[in-house]
Amino acid sequence: MNSPRRWPLHPRPGPVESLSSWLERTARTYNLSVKDLLTHNLGQLDVTAPEVVDWDPPAAILAALAERTGADLAQLRMMTLAGWVPWLMDTLHTRQWDAQETFDTYIRQNSVLFTPGEAGRNQVTVTGRERWRGPWRPARRLDRRCQVCAAGADPRRALMWQLPLTVGCVDHGCRLEDAREIAQAAVRDEKPQPVPVDEPLATLDRYTYEGLITGRVTLPGRTVHVGVWFRLLRSLLDEVSLALSTRSARARTTLERIWLAAGRSERGGLNVWRPYEQMDWPMQEAMLHAAAAALQLAADGRITARGTLGSALAPAPRRHVYDGDQPSPHVNAWQEAIAQAEAAIALARTDRDTARQLLALLTIGCRTRDRFEEECAYLFGIGIPAGFLPSARELGRADLA
Ligand SMILES: [Zn+2]
Repeated sequence: MNSPRRWPLHPRPGPVESLSSWLERTARTYNLSVKDLLTHNLGQLDVTAPEVVDWDPPAAILAALAERTGADLAQLRMMTLAGWVPWLMDTLHTRQWDAQETFDTYIRQNSVLFTPGEAGRNQVTVTGRERWRGPWRPARRLDRRCQVCAAGADPRRALMWQLPLTVGCVDHGCRLEDAREIAQAAVRDEKPQPVPVDEPLATLDRYTYEGLITGRVTLPGRTVHVGVWFRLLRSLLDEVSLALSTRSARARTTLERIWLAAGRSERGGLNVWRPYEQMDWPMQEAMLHAAAAALQLAADGRITARGTLGSALAPAPRRHVYDGDQPSPHVNAWQEAIAQAEAAIALARTDRDTARQLLALLTIGCRTRDRFEEECAYLFGIGIPAGFLPSARELGRADLA
């Protein structure tokens, strides 16, 4: 009989857990290997399970897993990196020929500390260097674990631990360590010795986890969509990796303050520029540390973030606002307007014309190209495909400065 049967035991997926972690926990409850679970126990599937299931597993496997376990298909997808397109990256498959354009769009089109365009241009496709495979995809595989999680009875791993996006486990507030080192220590019967993640890195990690769990990140200046947060962080990591000598005097001072606050040598000791993804982990950690220090300095008003996304980092100057003492008679009209806007946004996610109209409406008051791009980034951040959003020129906005 081929009709799908529900597996009797299936642990609930954790909030940021990876598919491979959840499959391992499920297989363990049956004393099976993940391979056996996926080959002999998933029905008559015509597809083979890939070696790395957390990347982009075949839809048929996810559908069969949802059927066997009663887990929500959308939730299973979010346990893979493919489920994070387009929030985390525009595409999973950056090819050689569009690597430069992807880099320039994702990383250099936005700016955080520097005025737009100040980051300059760098070639990501350099002969003799590994191929750049897109934002956040490390050239060398990261297999990191939390020591405390690993020592537990039913250990889980977060999907994002595979990417150079976080330093620690937010549940236990400790640094992630190399999986092999943890395994070797276990063989030697050593007790776990978790190293706490200190400020300012702890705040940086908290922002990222907030984004992963809620889809939004509460920054000191404003709340941004997680898609905007990933781009902001990646641009910031790029800015702190740039050579001080080639910067303007103002940018140089900003970078000096950041590296001083991080207590590390300038550029974390990086001599020759390369994309963040192609650095080794200790250097990536140095860059994350500098990015975290920059966020703190900007929040405290000790540096000014002059980039297109910079205003999100610092609280807005206090303005006196009349509190009002009467309930507004317009409240229903306002609620109605909100509901209409939400409906338009939902439609724009699948309808090109609505997306175009929405962008045109939102940018009526924009005077500069940067403001226009910011609105574009906002719409993209709330789930409207980049391909649906026309450029300023395509919208006939020749007036923008
Ligand atoms: Zn942990």
